[in-house]
Amino acid sequence: MTELQIFYTKESGESVPIVKNILEKTYDIKTAPPQELEILETYYNPKRMQYDASLLLKHLNRIKGPGLAIWILDREVYVEGMNFVFGCSSFGEGAVLSINKLDSSSMIEKEAVHEIGHVLGLEHCRNFCAMQFSNSILDAKMKSKTLCTWCKRKLRL
Ligand SMILES: [Zn+2]
Ligand SMILES: [Zn+2]
Repeated sequence: MTELQIFYTKESGESVPIVKNILEKTYDIKTAPPQELEILETYYNPKRMQYDASLLLKHLNRIKGPGLAIWILDREVYVEGMNFVFGCSSFGEGAVLSINKLDSSSMIEKEAVHEIGHVLGLEHCRNFCAMQFSNSILDAKMKSKTLCTWCKRKLRL
C-alpha cells in the first residue's frame, strides 16, 4: 500500500482532514501524521503577486520522505503560461494543492483527488471525472468528485 505524507501551512490546517479523508477513500492509500510546512518567501513572484508552484513542488519533493506527498497551502500559485493553477504535481513524487480559490470542501476534495491522480500516473481525462482538466473555477465546479471507471481501472482500484 502506498503511503502519503500530508503537509500544510498554518492557514490551511482546517483542510487537512478533508484532504486526508477523500484521498484515503478514493485511493488505496495510507497517510502519515500531517506535518506543518511553511512557505519560503523566495518562492513569491512580486511581479505576478503569486507563488511559483513549480518551485514549491521542487521544495516539497526535496524535503519529503520516500513516499508520496501533498502540500496544502492557501496562497495563489501559478505555473508559467497560466493565470493561476489549483495545483501541480510530479509523477511518483508529490503535489502542491492551493485552496486559495476553492470555496467549498467539495472543491478541495476534487482538486486533491485530481492532483494525487497525476502523482499516481493518471493523465487528463475527457469523461465525467475528477481527472478532467480545469483551468477555471467554473470548470472545477462542473467536474466530478470521483474518478471515472476508466481511470479507476488504470489504477486497479
Ligand atoms: Zn491536471
Ligand atoms: Zn477519468
